[in-house]
Amino acid sequence: MRVHELAKELGLTSKELMDRLHAMSVEVRNNFAALSPEQVALVRKAVGAPAAAAAPAETGAAKPAPKAAPPAKAAPAPAKPAAPPPPAPAAPPPPPPPPAPKVIIVKGPIIVKEFAEQLGLKPNLLIAELMTMNVFASINERIEFKVAQQLASRHGASIEHEKKAPEPKPVKKVEPKVEEPRPEDIQPRPPVVTFLGHVDHGKTSLLDRIRHSKVVQSEDGGITQHIGAYTVTYRDHPITFLDTPGHAAFTAMRARGANLTDIAVLIVAADDGVMPQTKEAIQHARAANVCIMVAINKIDLKSAVVDRVKRQLQHEGLAPEDWGGQTICCPVSAVTGDGIDHLLEMILLQSEMLELKGNARRPAQGFVIEARLEAGSGPTANLLVKQGTLSVGDAIVCGRCWGRVKALINDQGIKVRTAGPSIPVKCLGLNGVPEPGMEFVVYPNDREARAIAEEREAASRLQAISAPRRASLDDLLKPAETQQRTELAIVLKADVQGSLEAIRQALSGIKSDKVLLRIALAGVGNITGNDVLLASASNAIVVGFHVSKEDGVAALAKREGVEIRLYSVIYQLLDEVRDAMVGLLEPVIKETVIGHAEIRQVFEIGKKGNVAGCMVTDGRITSHARARVKRADDVLYEGAVVSLKRFQDDASEVREGLECGIRLDRFTDFKPGDVIECYEVQKIEQPL
Ligand code: GDP
Repeated sequence: MRVHELAKELGLTSKELMDRLHAMSVEVRNNFAALSPEQVALVRKAVGAPAAAAAPAETGAAKPAPKAAPPAKAAPAPAKPAAPPPPAPAAPPPPPPPPAPKVIIVKGPIIVKEFAEQLGLKPNLLIAELMTMNVFASINERIEFKVAQQLASRHGASIEHEKKAPEPKPVKKVEPKVEEPRPEDIQPRPPVVTFLGHVDHGKTSLLDRIRHSKVVQSEDGGITQHIGAYTVTYRDHPITFLDTPGHAAFTAMRARGANLTDIAVLIVAADDGVMPQTKEAIQHARAANVCIMVAINKIDLKSAVVDRVKRQLQHEGLAPEDWGGQTICCPVSAVTGDGIDHLLEMILLQSEMLELKGNARRPAQGFVIEARLEAGSGPTANLLVKQGTLSVGDAIVCGRCWGRVKALINDQGIKVRTAGPSIPVKCLGLNGVPEPGMEFVVYPNDREARAIAEEREAASRLQAISAPRRASLDDLLKPAETQQRTELAIVLKADVQGSLEAIRQALSGIKSDKVLLRIALAGVGNITGNDVLLASASNAIVVGFHVSKEDGVAALAKREGVEIRLYSVIYQLLDEVRDAMVGLLEPVIKETVIGHAEIRQVFEIGKKGNVAGCMVTDGRITSHARARVKRADDVLYEGAVVSLKRFQDDASEVREGLECGIRLDRFTDFKPGDVIECYEVQKIEQPL
C-alpha cells in the first residue's frame, strides 16, 4: 500500500502521515512510497484505526490516538476495540494480528528485542512505537512492565508475569534443605591458601615442595592428580592450596565472583626482594580483602638478605610481626625444605585467628576451579567445596550445566564418596563444561537441578543481550536515578613513579564526605590484562597517565565491560575524576513554578488536537517549560508544552496579562477555567 492511499484511508494528509512515519523511524521518501503490510498495520494501530477500514472518518481516526497515549486508565480501553469488533469489510487478510487476546508471559526484565519478538513485531517498529509513548529505549534495553502492558494492549495482547511457580519456587525453597544449622554443625574448616608473588621467586617450587613432602599417601595408593588444588595435612589439620599461583589467576577468579582464597601467601625471594609484581600482588590481595602472610623464600642462597626483605615489606605497609607489625613472615627454602613446617604452622595459626567455619551438614555449594572435556570421562569439573558436603549421586547445578554426580576423585586420584568444606575434588557427571569461577550448588533432585540450569541458560541469554555493565565515566557523570554508588574505584597506571605519586597525591586532595575515591591499584607501566581483571573484579575504571594499552587489553576490557581512560594532561585527569565523583551523587531536583495561565477557551484544530486559549495570570509561560493542568484541586496532567503562540506566531515566552495559545504534549482534554501551571525543573549537582 502506498503512503497517499493509507493517508486517504486514515483521513490524514500525506504530509501528516509521513511525519508520523518518520516519528516511528519508518523511512519514506515521498507519498508514493510503498509500505509493507506490517508497517500499514502498525500505523493503523498507532492512529487507532481498526484492521483495515478507515472507519470513523477523520476526527475519529485522529483523536483516539492521543487519547490512547495518556496514562494507564486509557490503556485497557483501546485493547477491546482493537481485537473483538474488527468489522474489516474489504480488508486484506486480517489474520496476522492475533485473533484472540494473546497472553505474553514474561519473566525477568522485559527487553525490547525479545518483547518485539513476542509481539510479532520488528524491534525497530517497537522502538518507534515506544518513542510515541515518550519512552526512548534501545534494542537491548529493558522497558517497564507498565509500558509493556500498554504496548501489548495496543497490539491486542496482554502480558503477565510468569506464574510458573511450581517449578522454580519450590526449587529455591528446598535448595539448601534449609534446616537452620545447629551450632554443633558449624565446624572449623581448612583454610584455602593461594601463593602470590613476583615471577621466579619460587611459588611453584614451594607448592611442589609442600605437596610432595606433606601429602600423606593413602593406603589406596592413588597417583597425584592435578585438580587445581590440593590438600595437605599438617599436625592433623588439613590445609588446601590452590595450584595456580600468581595474582592473574587469583583476580580472574575473583572477577567471576569466586572468592576462594582465605589466606594469600606472598612469596618474596630473599635474594631479590620486593619486586614490581610483588607490589602488584599486594595490591591485588588487598583489593580482595584477604589476609596476607609472607614467605621469604630461597634463604638457602648466600645472597639471601632476609632483613632487607622485611624492610621492604615494612615500606609496603606489611610490617613483619617480629618487628612489631601485623604480618607473619616465614623464612623458607623450597630447595632444602627449611622453614616449611613453620610456614604451615603459621598458616594454621592464621586460619585459627580468622575463625574459618563451615557447615558440612548442608547441601554443598562451592566454585569451579577449572573444567575440561576429557576423553573417556566427558565433562569434568574440578570443584572446591565451600559449604556443605558434596556426595556421589547429588544433583548439582554449575552455572548453566547440571548433572548427577557420577564420581568424585580427590587430589591423589582416589575415588571418594564425599568432599566437605574447603576440599577440592574432580567431579564427573555434568552435562557440559562450566567456566572457571562458576558457583556450583546441590539441589534436592535432578528435576529441580535441571530446571535451575535451564532458567540460568535463559537468564544468561538475557544478560548476553544486555551486555556487561561496569562503571564507565560517562555513566558516572550522568547517573541513573537508581544509582547508589558512593565509591569510585580506580586502577591507576602511570609512566613513571614520579607522576604516579603526583597523581596519587593530587587525587587524595579531592576531599569528599559523600564519595569515597578508592585506588584499587596504582602502578607503573602500560595497562595490562591483569589491571583490567582487577578493575573488573573491583568494579573500577582504569585510568592511565602517559601509558598505553598492552596488546589484547582493549579486547579484554570490552569483554569485561571495563572502561579505560588515558590522559596526558594531569589536570584533565583530575578534573574528570572529580566530575565522576560528583556524578555519583544524586542531583537534587528542584522545581520552580514560573507562571500560571487560565484557560478561557478551547480551540479544536483537527488532528493536531486542542489548543488552550489562555490568559497568563501571573509570571510567564515559556515554550520549553513543563506544565501541569489543574482543575480545581485536581491535577489532570503533567507534561511538556509543545507549542506556545501569540495569535498566529510562535512565541518563546508570554508574560503576565497577555493572551496565548498553548498546546500540550498528548493532552487535549482542556476545559475553560482549568489552570495551566508552568514550571521548570533543575537538576542541581550536589557538591562533593
Ligand atoms: P615461580 O615463577 O614464582 O613459580 O618460581 P619457580 O618456583 O618456578 O622458581 C623459580 C626458580 O627459582 C627455579 O629455578 C627454582 O629452582 C628456584 N627456586 C625456587 N625456590 C628456591 C629456593 O628456595 N632456593 C633456591 N636456591 N632456588 C629456588
